[in-house]
Amino acid sequence: MSKIKIAELFYSIQGEGRYMGVPSVFLRTFGCNFKCAGFGMPRGELSMEAAGIAATHSLVTPFQKYEELPLVSTGCDSYASWMPEFKELSPMLTSEAIADRIMEILPQDHWKDEHLVITGGEPLLGWQRAYPDLLKHEDMAALQEITFETNGTQKLSAEFKDYLAQWGMTEPGREITFSVSAKLPGSGERWEEAIQPDIVCEYEQVGTAYLKFVVATDEDIVDAKNAINEYRAAGFTGEVYLMPVGGVESVYALNNRRVAEEAMRHGLRYSDRLQVPLFKNAWGT
Ligand code: SF4
Repeated sequence: MSKIKIAELFYSIQGEGRYMGVPSVFLRTFGCNFKCAGFGMPRGELSMEAAGIAATHSLVTPFQKYEELPLVSTGCDSYASWMPEFKELSPMLTSEAIADRIMEILPQDHWKDEHLVITGGEPLLGWQRAYPDLLKHEDMAALQEITFETNGTQKLSAEFKDYLAQWGMTEPGREITFSVSAKLPGSGERWEEAIQPDIVCEYEQVGTAYLKFVVATDEDIVDAKNAINEYRAAGFTGEVYLMPVGGVESVYALNNRRVAEEAMRHGLRYSDRLQVPLFKNAWGT
């Protein structure tokens, strides 16, 4: 039986993108190929917030539970889902244990209108090989909608691509979505590694894909427009959203309205981050 290293598994409403407001089970896998330490920082500078928390955890007092970890206002707001210093807070769980836990947290003990959101970290790293074992579990049979929240840099393996195509056809109404949060230079990641149009176009062969750009400054918006041109030139047909930076309310509230106005000005969609105003972006929301 396959195992997946799970940083978080919780029930909430989707706060971002196309399915904002949809009740969802979030399966947050451990591991990421990026660091995104530039979020919320002046261009060219990198946040040290998460590194400081990791140093406290390793050298002073270890945090016992994921929920005890401080939130950050700069850098990756999911830092504990990939930093090696926190890996012991993310257990390896079998498909059986994950399915059991999902049944416990669903409000009616079975799938109804809820979506499964597989997020991270970067959920399309090596865990691709483990998802079929989970999805074929009898408790997952009634699931209708899966969203992968990905940074759009990981190719689907041939086996997983075939599996997803088949999963989508087995029951009428099933849908697969790739919510692609492609990282602009303001994240601190390099364009050549982060903007991978051919990979995202391949996602469109097995499901619906949309792009979601986190922006704060005019420079970010110019970068987003250039990236959109690259994706469109490669044949990408999906929706595009602008989303305000801000893992904590004080940062989010500084630019959410301006980002909405920029989205309108450029004929793009606006994505909120409902988990920030509603739940203060607490772990498990
Ligand atoms: S890709 Fe996502 S999870 Fe990975 S470091 Fe960047 S923001 Fe964090």
